[in-house]
Amino acid sequence: MAFDDQKFQDFFRFYDHHNPRHQNAVLELAKHIPAEQLADEANWVRIFRTAPPTPELEQRKPPTESVRLPYEPGRIDWHDNNFRVSRHFTVGEVTRFDPRRIPPIGSAVERAVLALATDLDKLREDWNRPIGVTSWNRPPAINQAVGGVSNSQHILGSAVDLYDLGGNDRQFEDFLDRHWGGALGYGIRSGRGFTHLDMRGGGFKRGSGSIRWNY
Ligand SMILES: [Zn+2]
Repeated sequence: MAFDDQKFQDFFRFYDHHNPRHQNAVLELAKHIPAEQLADEANWVRIFRTAPPTPELEQRKPPTESVRLPYEPGRIDWHDNNFRVSRHFTVGEVTRFDPRRIPPIGSAVERAVLALATDLDKLREDWNRPIGVTSWNRPPAINQAVGGVSNSQHILGSAVDLYDLGGNDRQFEDFLDRHWGGALGYGIRSGRGFTHLDMRGGGFKRGSGSIRWNY
């Protein structure tokens, strides 16, 4: 009989020690293992038992609307990626799920992040469709590592790169152009895949701002 290596490995991969059928299958297997190997506990362990995996420890789950906690102004848990920094934006979006990007508590950067989030809420509500964030807060070392300019507003926590999650990028950039009173870099029409916004010159307003450039 051809022996299916993969099926055999899958059996152990999905083995559930609470499942009686699985337990019986192991007892069945044990009948085919030489008695001297079963008798030798040390050898048995060495050959057949491996350390269990540590599932979910390193897995990052992107935030979804359903798992987001209600927004409470003034208290940010920066170690909870799903925690809201405003009505529509989360810690994970500010930090890209990277704890090195957490702003110091009570710092000017934290205040700038929260001020920007408040203005982005207004944009989000006017746009009325989900918005994606590619980059927000970038401490200097991170900013340098990702190739940001040294005077980037991302270092200050007051810049964000956005796109429309529904793929309406160009309409979204035009919308931002009309409703962002602060600085705006046209990243969509330059092919970068996002629009850069920052707070220089103001934030949200209904009516265009004056600081505009092509990426
Ligand atoms: Zn940017």
